[in-house]
Amino acid sequence: MESNHLEEAPGECQEVLARLYTFLDGELTEERRIKIRRHLDECSPCLEAYEFEAELRQMVANRLRDRVPDVLRLKISALIKMERTS
Ligand SMILES: [Zn+2]
Repeated sequence: MESNHLEEAPGECQEVLARLYTFLDGELTEERRIKIRRHLDECSPCLEAYEFEAELRQMVANRLRDRVPDVLRLKISALIKMERTS
C-alpha cells in the first residue's frame, strides 16, 4: 500500500516530497516550512520519507563531514525507491 506512495501521491504529497531536500537544507521560507511541517504531522508516509532522509543525511554527514556528491545521493535514493517499490 505504501509502496506506491511516490507514484500515486496526491498533489500536496508530491510537493512536500519534492521539497524535502530544500526543507532539510533550511532554505525554505517560514511560510513553506510551516506548511510542510503541518503536512508531515498529518501524513505518515511523507513523515517516514522525511525521517529517513534526515537520518540518512545525519549518517552521511557524520561519516564524511563534507558535502555528499549529488551523484552519490541520487544513487542512494534510487536504490531506496527500488527497494520500496519491489
Ligand atoms: Zn503526504
